[in-house]
Amino acid sequence: MSHSVELLAVGTELLLGSVANTDAQLLSRELSGLGLNVYYHSVVGDNPDRLAQAVELAKSRADVLVTTGGLGPTCDDLTKRVVAQAFGRQLAYHPACAEAIRAYFAASGREMPENNLQQAWLPEGCQVLENHWGTAPGCAFHSQGRWVVMLPGPPGECLPMFREQAVPWLAQLSEGVIRSRTLRVFGWGESQVESLLRPQMDRLTNPTLAPYAKQGEVELRITAKAEDGQAAQALIAPVEREVRSVLGDLVYGTEENSLERVVLEGLKDQGLTLGTAESCTGGLLAKRMTDLPGAAAAFRGGVVSYVNEVKRQVLGVPQALLDEQGAVCEEVARAMAQGARRVLGCDLAVATTGVAGPDSDEWGNPVGLVYVALAAQSGCWVRKLNLAGAREGRDRVRTLAASHGLDMVRRWLAGLEIVPEL
Ligand code: ATP
Ligand code: MG
Repeated sequence: MSHSVELLAVGTELLLGSVANTDAQLLSRELSGLGLNVYYHSVVGDNPDRLAQAVELAKSRADVLVTTGGLGPTCDDLTKRVVAQAFGRQLAYHPACAEAIRAYFAASGREMPENNLQQAWLPEGCQVLENHWGTAPGCAFHSQGRWVVMLPGPPGECLPMFREQAVPWLAQLSEGVIRSRTLRVFGWGESQVESLLRPQMDRLTNPTLAPYAKQGEVELRITAKAEDGQAAQALIAPVEREVRSVLGDLVYGTEENSLERVVLEGLKDQGLTLGTAESCTGGLLAKRMTDLPGAAAAFRGGVVSYVNEVKRQVLGVPQALLDEQGAVCEEVARAMAQGARRVLGCDLAVATTGVAGPDSDEWGNPVGLVYVALAAQSGCWVRKLNLAGAREGRDRVRTLAASHGLDMVRRWLAGLEIVPEL
């Protein structure tokens, strides 16, 4: 028998339209991937009476209630109190949670406001869902024939907590365990990946294979249900091999890896350094590298050479080239990357130059035309990208351009073809 789920998002900001209910979208995907039927999404403000009514309604029509938001320390964070009451449970103080919250603040070197300890009050007899991504712990319990899971609101906490802590708990709904494996793909869009893997996706029922598009990347999740973890892995392994044989080196990583992380690890392994010269990405590549702790081991720095004068004076791009062809062309990308290698003293340098939009440039180059170059001692490669039709505009053009730069580095490091036909 399959169970029905209701997602209940708590937060006045959602009703006011200041924040979109993206938690519901992400969790719905995850839940359907687990074979659970999500029948209702509801949203309620930070109001105890209306929240209590929403919980009663959910109890009457769903087997599983998953709430998001309202777990934090501020006084409008009332989800636990109201939900516990609806199931006739008291809140109890969990010393271990209080310790975890103290440790979180100690580790970040910040003073802990006393009211944060309110987060350590959770429904009695619940299973605590630890929060490794923020402070508010989640919780789960089974009561009155219903399964209840409470997750924090911020998407960066909600989704990983769900995957890491709630999924194993929800496994009790079905016999056995649920395991999943994520493969990360860069270079093709979701529809291309989907059409290539259509036969597998149609054929497979356990494990299931599902693609999720994400910022120019595709995440492929293989999810298996089995008696135990080992049996689930045994179901997943051949499907992973099959997917890899179809997609080849488009698969750049697994699980929570990112292009920048793969690049940083690769550089460190080979004892090489990287630098950047960025025009249309405005420093995004450097930002993504330096988001990673320990980036200094391999990332030397970057030049944001947004105007031609800086391209010329700092990076040594020839004026004649800029005059003849404008800044958005293959030769300028090449000269920028080579210049960055020289001035930054790094083994590899990536350069971006292009038209991020919303308008075409004075040379008539269309929005979305971007050249990304990679310079190394052994040579220089350029990818010409046409990111037009990118609905989200500037942001998407920049994100994709930066990702292509990282992809070129990871391919160089792995000895793969750097500018493949995509
Ligand atoms: P915190 O410990 O951060 O207070 P919380 O569980 O109390 O967590 P809320 O205070 O309800 O969560 O929400 C914190 C923020 O998380 C909101 O301002 C909003 O930006 C985001 N958020 C909350 N609910 C959702 C949702 N359903 N979808 C997307 N974002 C959300
Ligand atoms: Mg809050």
